[in-house]
Amino acid sequence: MKIPFAPPRVDDKTIAEVVDTLNSGWITTGPKTAKLEEEITAYTQASATVCLNSATAGLELMLRWFGVQEGDEVIVPAYTYCATANVVEHVGATPVMVDVNNADANINLAAIEAAISDRTKVIVPVDIAGMPCDYCEILALALEKGKALFQPRNDRQKQLGRPMVMADAAHSFGALYGKKRLGSQVDAMVFSFHAVKNLTTAEGGAVCLNFEAFNNHELYAELRTLSLHGQSKDAFKKMQPGAWRYDVAYPGYKCNMTDLQAAIGLVELARYDETLNRRKEICNRYIQGLADEELCLLPEFADNVKESSYHLFRLRIKDAKEADRDKIITILAEQGIATNVHFLPLPMLSYYKNKGYDIKDYPNAYNCFANEISLPVYFDLTDEMVDYVVDHVKKAVQAVMR
Ligand SMILES: *Cc1c(COP(=O)(O)O)cnc(C)c1O
Repeated sequence: MKIPFAPPRVDDKTIAEVVDTLNSGWITTGPKTAKLEEEITAYTQASATVCLNSATAGLELMLRWFGVQEGDEVIVPAYTYCATANVVEHVGATPVMVDVNNADANINLAAIEAAISDRTKVIVPVDIAGMPCDYCEILALALEKGKALFQPRNDRQKQLGRPMVMADAAHSFGALYGKKRLGSQVDAMVFSFHAVKNLTTAEGGAVCLNFEAFNNHELYAELRTLSLHGQSKDAFKKMQPGAWRYDVAYPGYKCNMTDLQAAIGLVELARYDETLNRRKEICNRYIQGLADEELCLLPEFADNVKESSYHLFRLRIKDAKEADRDKIITILAEQGIATNVHFLPLPMLSYYKNKGYDIKDYPNAYNCFANEISLPVYFDLTDEMVDYVVDHVKKAVQAVMR
């Protein structure tokens, strides 16, 4: 068998919608992007949604909108994809890395509290593998210690009066928090629609807006403009007869979503419940299949508050060192099974290491990485394929660890 890690769900429906867009005469930002934004707002119960060409762009745009700059601090987990911290570097601020929980690999509450200072402008929790962070508690930290120490530098920061809480929800579209889908829990929640994510537009992302201190519809329009050079009219509006004239009030960025991307997203969203259900079945089948191998430490996908979006199956191997884990991955690869490792903690990447971040300060981030193997999870993965993976994982673990 040949089992890839995370191919996208592409079928006749996806192809038809893309072709329809190609034939429509409008392929960049236009009616389909607007429709996707409306449908994501409805699905997530956010106040407004802006779609962009990536989650990275969304994270960075929000930092720039909030005026985060040199001398400011942004709290991020040490265990995440590099995008979370890279955007902080882009605006010249300092990523303050904190450790994560060993159990779910999400950012640790006590570590956030300890890291909040009079320079903290933003807190960026990351929903690792699709399991939501403790948003109520994180918001409470922003409203208490964050607010008490907050030193605003501009009118927006004054108006918010505390650090912004911006979720890197790249993994967790469709996850549940309480009885609600993720998207409305904190100020800004940034989703990724990259090709390997649960819901894809090939490349793409969305920022769901929920500020109490601002009008989110006005903010939506501001971010739309900021994502298109600060131009007062986008190409679609300018195309209306006689409406060519526009202005540029400030030099904005260029990170809009195209209608070609949105077309894929609309198909994906319309059948997303089906996608999520299948992902859940796959994860449960792994859990049942691996339950009798005590060396396999199994992830949790729900507690009494939250339920994951089943983005990654983060298997951990009891007592495995990095080298053992790597051997298991090689054995699986020889059997045609593609796996992955999430994540190389940021302090282990050359750029951050050279800046002085030290993995020894983040023991849980290291442990979450060192014995981790992510197993394939995607809509088209059959039960037979899952059973094949289970069988070979057990054999490989036995071969390496016994
Ligand atoms: C994929 C990912 C991103 C980046 O998403 P893009 O849409 O590719 O910019 C950010 N954070 C995490 C945790 C991710 O996994």
